[in-house]
Amino acid sequence: MKLKNGPEYMESLKKLHPKIYYKGKRIEDVTTHPATAPHVRAAAMTYALANDEEYEDLATATSHLTGRKISRFTHVHQNIEDLLKKVKLLRVLGQKTATCFQRCVGLDGINATYSVLYEMDEKHGTDYLERFKKWLIRVQDENIMVVGAMTDPKGDRSKGPADQPDPDQYLHIVERRDDGIVIRGAKLHMTGAVNSHEILVMPTTAMDERSKDYAVVCAIPIDDPGITMLFGRQANDDRRDNLERIDAGKPSFGAVGGEAVIVFEDVFVPTERVFMDGQTDFTGDLVYRFAAHHRANYGACKTGLMDVLTGAVTYLAQIQGTAKASHVRDKVTEMIHLSETLYSSSIACSAEGTPTPSGAYMVDTMLANVCKHNVTRFHFEVARLALDLAGGFIATLPSEHDLNSEEVGHLVKKYFSGVEGIPTEHRIKIARLIEAMTGGTALVESMHGAGSPQAQRVMIFREGDLMKKVKLAKALLGVPSSDKAA
Ligand code: SF4
Ligand code: FE
Repeated sequence: MKLKNGPEYMESLKKLHPKIYYKGKRIEDVTTHPATAPHVRAAAMTYALANDEEYEDLATATSHLTGRKISRFTHVHQNIEDLLKKVKLLRVLGQKTATCFQRCVGLDGINATYSVLYEMDEKHGTDYLERFKKWLIRVQDENIMVVGAMTDPKGDRSKGPADQPDPDQYLHIVERRDDGIVIRGAKLHMTGAVNSHEILVMPTTAMDERSKDYAVVCAIPIDDPGITMLFGRQANDDRRDNLERIDAGKPSFGAVGGEAVIVFEDVFVPTERVFMDGQTDFTGDLVYRFAAHHRANYGACKTGLMDVLTGAVTYLAQIQGTAKASHVRDKVTEMIHLSETLYSSSIACSAEGTPTPSGAYMVDTMLANVCKHNVTRFHFEVARLALDLAGGFIATLPSEHDLNSEEVGHLVKKYFSGVEGIPTEHRIKIARLIEAMTGGTALVESMHGAGSPQAQRVMIFREGDLMKKVKLAKALLGVPSSDKAA
């Protein structure tokens, strides 16, 4: 692996010069800017663990393409063990960063694209997978961070890509040349985009024949001159600007993934980097496989976050002298129960994985949808219990400027103290961490990342095989299967 560790990853980002705007100004260096640096550090953890003996087995894999040792974040899953190791790795990373470390999006994009291209080439007699493999070998050998770019703006949601008044609401090909294509459009909510090296563009939805120009998969360097990124605001991000270390809650790694809009203004993509061009019949499979892989992940990364939150409220209860109260233990027990239940669905959909015709392994799609759907409930319930246990002072705490003030600092220390012997500063720090992990932007990600809850409900109903269940009930009662209800 060329990029071996966190510092090397950060150095590699300094050599790139992507066009990124935040609050109307250009960000020159994502590794030092207060808005982006925490997310860079979270992604750097994925590089660090690959070099840590304790986690090497989870964080690295052997490439099926080259036989070389690679980061698991660039690996095409070859068996169930790979799927299981991946989710175990994500839980560890969630525990270490308490935030989104971003690299799974590219990983899921790589896996979905790989298996779909195999089937697409078989059907259409094309050779896109061979092109993709060449690109992927470089990604693996150089341990490149890839942002998987799927979600289009979509404009008028009642209309598909081909019927939009503004065709740019879905990313599309505007020109086909002998040596490549030119694309235009945008991708929203792009986790980790500003600190990635490459963009893997994928279609956002299943498309029909009329949308050939929208059925495109391709790879683009992040600092292509046609790319502009708009970095999103997060709750309380001004606290980071002012370098309020305590008030920022989680200054090292940030509250959520660090999302950006990526705008593509007539970007030329050379032929060797184009992996789908007009094959609308495979867009649905690509989107669905990507979504299933990503939904499987959420039960692991978010469990890591919930582990930290459970630890934080327990520590706060100890500081406040309430840790032994029976209702506190009961609520903490519920937090653990929900976390482990969530994790078990990540493990289950991985353990039930199956090979695709390409040899790449897919998670069980029904269980993956159930897993992500559980995130949209359990993470919120765990956050609710954390806020219940923490107490209302999370919302009314004076700032760290008051804590450090010569005039009033002693008042904050006196009236926000807990049990004897623990500095008030520790209580305030842990309260700010809980605030950052339960409020503002943090939970929105759990609701809508990897698809909104309704997207999972659609798939759960579709894959639920209701007619089989009806047959089961009929068989038990001796009702003939031909007996149709009105
Ligand atoms: Fe990975 Fe979780 Fe972030 Fe998605 S939300 S990129 S699965 S850490
Ligand atoms: Fe996400």
